[in-house]
Amino acid sequence: MSNATESLYAAWKKIYPRYQLGFFRTLRSSLYTAQLVIFFFLPFLRWERPSGLPNQAILFDLPGRKFYIFDLMIWPQDIILLAFLLMAAALGLFFITALGGRVFCGYMCIQTVWTDLLLHVELLFEGNRKQRIKFDHSPLSVKKFLIKGGKHFTWLLISAATGVAFVNYFMDAPTFWRQLFTGELPTPALLTVAFLTATTYLMAGLAREQVCIYMCPYARFQGAMFDDDTMIVAYHPEIGEPRESNRRIRTGKTEQGERVGECIDCDACVTVCPTGIDIRNGQQYECITCAACIDACDSVRERLHASKRTLICYTSLREMGGEKTRWLRPRILYYAVLLSLFFGGMAYYLNHHAAVELTVIAHRQPMYIVQSDGGIQNNYTMRVLNMTTAPQTYSLAVDGVPEAVLSIAAIQQHDSDGHPLLTLEPGSVTPFTVYLRQPGTRIESGSLQVTFTLSALSASGGTASYHSTFVRPQ
Ligand code: SF4
Ligand code: SF4
Repeated sequence: MSNATESLYAAWKKIYPRYQLGFFRTLRSSLYTAQLVIFFFLPFLRWERPSGLPNQAILFDLPGRKFYIFDLMIWPQDIILLAFLLMAAALGLFFITALGGRVFCGYMCIQTVWTDLLLHVELLFEGNRKQRIKFDHSPLSVKKFLIKGGKHFTWLLISAATGVAFVNYFMDAPTFWRQLFTGELPTPALLTVAFLTATTYLMAGLAREQVCIYMCPYARFQGAMFDDDTMIVAYHPEIGEPRESNRRIRTGKTEQGERVGECIDCDACVTVCPTGIDIRNGQQYECITCAACIDACDSVRERLHASKRTLICYTSLREMGGEKTRWLRPRILYYAVLLSLFFGGMAYYLNHHAAVELTVIAHRQPMYIVQSDGGIQNNYTMRVLNMTTAPQTYSLAVDGVPEAVLSIAAIQQHDSDGHPLLTLEPGSVTPFTVYLRQPGTRIESGSLQVTFTLSALSASGGTASYHSTFVRPQ
């Protein structure tokens, strides 16, 4: 019996993906570029808001505990919206995966986008696939040192820009740049930039496909969302096999008259693959469905004037079995219904969420004041939070105390019904002292339940009520 044990460790082999033009490359490049442009430039988009509010279109103001998204101002009270958003994102991912397999990985994932960007830099510095392999195996020289140094320096610059852009979503972008040059940047901002620079450089520059293959949890559980109708990138062995060389393809027969397949075993589909797999070996979990192999094979076959049949394409297991792909199926419908419910819930919440928040706390030292005319007065501290993005004027009314006289310290304005009027800036919490008085003529003993109601004069300002007690002598 042999004592030899097989090692479970496989040494990393560097992958040198070949750059391949084609329909899917153009589609991917367009989507990657759009994502990069949006990510890097969105923090610089200004948005008109009333004075006192930041004019950055998208700003996650953590110290101020407010998120600004265009005309929306999200408060900590709106945490349910975040829960809705996360659940909708997860469901959206399930929906896309059930329909298009790992299409998110190939076209939208930030790991793929940034890896592709840094690969372009490598291409610029070190040349095409063959040149890069040769260059890596060449002895160290000053030229090699400078070229490698230039590449890594550019990677670091892009990684740092990524960190800066990310932080710009959490603090005013122009202020960030001013503070960067004046050395006043807060330490947490600097540390975040440093952390993101390091992770981007490591993940997208050095680890690349290793992240997709070994680190990404999505790659592990996405199989559960696949079914026979999910889109995959697949090779058609019935067309391609048995493989034969280029010169045999025209006749489709060997010299002995045996049928040959249309795959010429040129390996073009393997050399373009960013995860280094051979799609002809069947479906593999490393495949991110980027379709680079489709572009590669199509271009080879076009050059050879081969038949119009595709050797590698987007298809489904059902279609490969000779049936038609079923796009509408129960799983897709469940996901679609759930997604609609979540988005509908979010839209409803955004349309109906509180625009103003009111709290009224009764003073209990003293609990009531007996006035010279025999009337009773209770004092309250009222806090009003204007949660809209515009200044608002509110009228305050009270219910529950007969012949109540309501006034607010330092507020002189009243509406036609005699209710005090107060104006608040957007996003501000303002405390007021409120005096509620019942004149002395008809005082009875015992406390009363009262309701304070704040109503904005504009429709967007909303209304809010608060229940409290009006204390009278027993
Ligand atoms: S096998 Fe094809 S689709 Fe899958 S990752 Fe490789 S190149 Fe992309
Ligand atoms: S690119 Fe097409 S022809 Fe070339 S090896 Fe791959 S499947 Fe075969």
